Amino acid sequence: MIDADVQDAINTQIRNEYYSSYLYLSMSAYCESRNFPGFASWLRNQSDEELVHAMKFFDYLTDRGGRVVLESIEQPPSEFGTFLEMFEEVLEHEREITGMINNIYDLATSKNDQATLVMLHWFIEEQVEEEKSAEEVVEQLKLAGDNAAALLIIDRELASRESE
Ligand code: MG
Repeated sequence: MIDADVQDAINTQIRNEYYSSYLYLSMSAYCESRNFPGFASWLRNQSDEELVHAMKFFDYLTDRGGRVVLESIEQPPSEFGTFLEMFEEVLEHEREITGMINNIYDLATSKNDQATLVMLHWFIEEQVEEEKSAEEVVEQLKLAGDNAAALLIIDRELASRESE
């Protein structure tokens, strides 16, 4: 049986992963409204991935004999400024998620919950990838600045990128 505090933390993280999905889906809609289908597609893939993350926590909790209790999901913003500002927000959000995963890791360590630590290794590696891919787009957008042609090239490149 899983420790009650670890169970609560995982339930909250299920909500956080759903919020991430909701946030990226809202960003995707914003990009669609501005006619940048490549940015929209990249964010939609990210949104889908967050649902997979949520369900990994869901299944883990169930496998451990825990009880999943779904929490309410906050409304995400609908306006995101420039594409650079938006992707800086993606990067900042992923860094926050990394901090949350690390906090659950610390909690599981304090409870000597080895199974949860092993499960979290997947997420720790995943966060390295999440931060890296957001950082790449931020760096490209910094180079592009206000140049519309450069933004369209980045948009086209992201349109062809497979979900990681
Ligand atoms: Mg995630």
